[in-house]
Amino acid sequence: MERAPKVSFVSLGCPKALVDSERIVTRLRAEGYELSRSHAGADLAVVNTCGFLDSAQAESLAAIGKALAENGKVIVTGCMGAEPEKITSRYPQVLAVTGPQQYESVVEAVHRVLPPRHDPLLDLLPPQGIKLTPRHYAYLKISEGCNNRCSFCIIPKLRGELRSRPAADVLREAERLVAAGVKEILVISQDTSAYGSDLKYAASAWKGRDVRARFLDLARELGELGAWVRLHYVYPYPHVDDVMPLMADGKVLPYLDVPFQHAAPAVLRRMRRPAAQEKTLQRIARWRDMCPDLTIRSTFIVGFPGESEADFRLLLDWLEEAELDRVGCFRYEAVAGARANELTPAVPEAMKEERWHRLMRCQQAISARRLKRKIGSRQAVIVDEVAAASRSHAGSGMGAAKGRTRGDAPDIDGTVHVTSRRPLRLGEIVTVRIERADEYDLHGTVVGF
Ligand code: SF4
Repeated sequence: MERAPKVSFVSLGCPKALVDSERIVTRLRAEGYELSRSHAGADLAVVNTCGFLDSAQAESLAAIGKALAENGKVIVTGCMGAEPEKITSRYPQVLAVTGPQQYESVVEAVHRVLPPRHDPLLDLLPPQGIKLTPRHYAYLKISEGCNNRCSFCIIPKLRGELRSRPAADVLREAERLVAAGVKEILVISQDTSAYGSDLKYAASAWKGRDVRARFLDLARELGELGAWVRLHYVYPYPHVDDVMPLMADGKVLPYLDVPFQHAAPAVLRRMRRPAAQEKTLQRIARWRDMCPDLTIRSTFIVGFPGESEADFRLLLDWLEEAELDRVGCFRYEAVAGARANELTPAVPEAMKEERWHRLMRCQQAISARRLKRKIGSRQAVIVDEVAAASRSHAGSGMGAAKGRTRGDAPDIDGTVHVTSRRPLRLGEIVTVRIERADEYDLHGTVVGF
């Protein structure tokens, strides 16, 4: 029998790029291609690049160089593909460059270089497609592109205007994922609360009903599928208040990932952030009134051009009052093509570094305080990693595992270190009594299966 053509695949960048990679890989697998773990063992390498920051572009270029050195036949796709000359000037031997969301073009390029086997084994493809995340959680992309124009960001240039998927389309994918064993759905997009505005919130038919392409309606329907539903990249618009009752009722996880980026009005204006004029502290207080268990995570940028010491202090004061649970912080980095590059005065690198440390110190104390409040409580925990029988547990029938509470997203938030009187399974959701907390993580014992 003819050998199946083999492709190695590198996926760089954010969860949105990962979803693109999953689509490309699913399509290739459907056509009978095999995936290779190494470039050397493949007939062709595909690199899905990230172009968000200059450092991400450098990482992408290095990944292309590695694939060329180890394989020689390389196709490049993803965000950097929007500016192909950046790639071809450095690596003219790259076989093809395609832009973000151009699945068809990537697949066509693969066909040209490495034609599919004559008789693809279509029935080997699982109905939910091929996932690059563990089996028990999956990212669900509800829209592409973005209608905002944040001055530090070139994503709208790279990925275009907001294009939402019809609600029924999203729900069908979510249902397939749940049927395939997915226990947690992570809803992603560039601006989740703007979902459907480009479709004028048009309805589509789902299980004999009409479901509108609206943030609240979609969250409500996803909440009926029986999996954990986690909402990422939600901007603090007033209509976000409407999902709080769903969170309080346990339909959707009481978790919001809100990229605030800053708190000083002058900086937010210069950043041209959506919802910048919202009174965010009042909004957070209202959310917590409606859903006391709510976990809020966010990201911030320090050292944005023109950020004064007073602006920065205002941010620290805001953080003290907001008491967010989890915070990521980036030092501002210029991105080629972003309008923020023209803003002055630039904040010196040493000052960015110093502010980053101050913010992290301030937030660490807040996060630790909030985690401590969980000691003594019982939390639902989803198991992400099962320890290989350790010496202390071997033969004892006990299990040790790492998992996450409803307030922790994979990869970006904390972990719960769990001991259990029986071994645990990946994706199992158990009740854990929390006994200890450190700066980022919780420790506890399973008290309910
Ligand atoms: S909301 Fe702002 S930062 Fe996010 S993708 Fe859109 S323009 Fe970029």
